[in-house]
Amino acid sequence: HADMAMYQAKEAGRNNFHFYTGAPTPLERRTLSIEQRLRRGVEGQGFQLVYQPIVDTHTGSVRGAEALLRWPQPDGDPIGPELFIPIAESVGVIQSLGRWVFGEVCKQVVQWQADGLPAITVAINVSPIQFRHQGFLPSLLNILRESGVNPGLISLELTESALIKDIDESVKTFSILREVGLSVALDDFGTGYSSLSQLARLPLDKLKIDRSFVKGIEGGGAGPPIVEAIIALGHTLNLEIVAEGVETQQDLAFLREKRCHQAQGYFIGRPMIGNAFFEWCTMNTPAASTPAQGMNNTG
Ligand code: C2E
Ligand code: MG
Ligand code: MG
Ligand code: MG
Repeated sequence: HADMAMYQAKEAGRNNFHFYTGAPTPLERRTLSIEQRLRRGVEGQGFQLVYQPIVDTHTGSVRGAEALLRWPQPDGDPIGPELFIPIAESVGVIQSLGRWVFGEVCKQVVQWQADGLPAITVAINVSPIQFRHQGFLPSLLNILRESGVNPGLISLELTESALIKDIDESVKTFSILREVGLSVALDDFGTGYSSLSQLARLPLDKLKIDRSFVKGIEGGGAGPPIVEAIIALGHTLNLEIVAEGVETQQDLAFLREKRCHQAQGYFIGRPMIGNAFFEWCTMNTPAASTPAQGMNNTG
């Protein structure tokens, strides 16, 4: 029941603390049912991956995609990854779910290459618990080998919290991943508490600016200077900088002006299933002279 209180606190807004007493609330019942269904076996059952485009801020051409997990429900009421990933972690199914995601993405990338998609990088989110599990690296290398995918087309996204618990171990794992040819991105940058000296030790390829900062671009105030400072830090550390949550033309124009390399967000494209993403890329190819929706009029 302590776990239950924890999920509830998480969903309710993170700082609430709740003791479990008496009859379960609707949210507790929902959490329990998610937990039961997750335990029943997650080898991809009922899960789906969608892909959100990532583009070059200057040319608008597609540079990559982020794979995002979806779990459609029979009752049509979707459960988002922000709710079910922590539950999958706590009931111990995150490893198998993560393996399924990795295998699916590798298969999809091989297929896209066979279908003639340009060489773009597909990002996979890795949960902290998944990353710290001792079986993580061997199983990932296995799936990579079996799929025959070009590792250069895969990148892994991790948050600071996943890395700083054991920075030495993280540095080692990252080095191995990069030797194999994968790239590594620090996700949701700016929301964690790690020191810059720790971060500078990590062999990283990319920095992803968290959506909450990008959201602040339009509002003025502290938003724009923070985004600018993160971009400057990325340049100093020689990292590729990707902004997530780009929702307006104004956001994109600001990011381009400040030399943020890549952008991802609803203004550019929503997450979409594999076939739709392929179509989207075909439309987006500058040679096809059909700019993607949302990338027009950006000067
Ligand atoms: P994230 O890795 O930071 O992914 C970006 C999130 O921002 C996604 O939410 C995406 O749909 C959303 N997003 C992108 N552009 C916009 C925009 O312009 N406006 C708004 N409001 N939102 C935007 P999503 O798909 O709900 O995923 C939430 C989080 O769940 C992800 O955050 C990631 O941490 C986690 N997640 C998703 N898929 C996986 C997975 O396969 N494995 C693991 N371990 N975690 C995953
Ligand atoms: Mg991510
Ligand atoms: Mg992110
Ligand atoms: Mg995020």
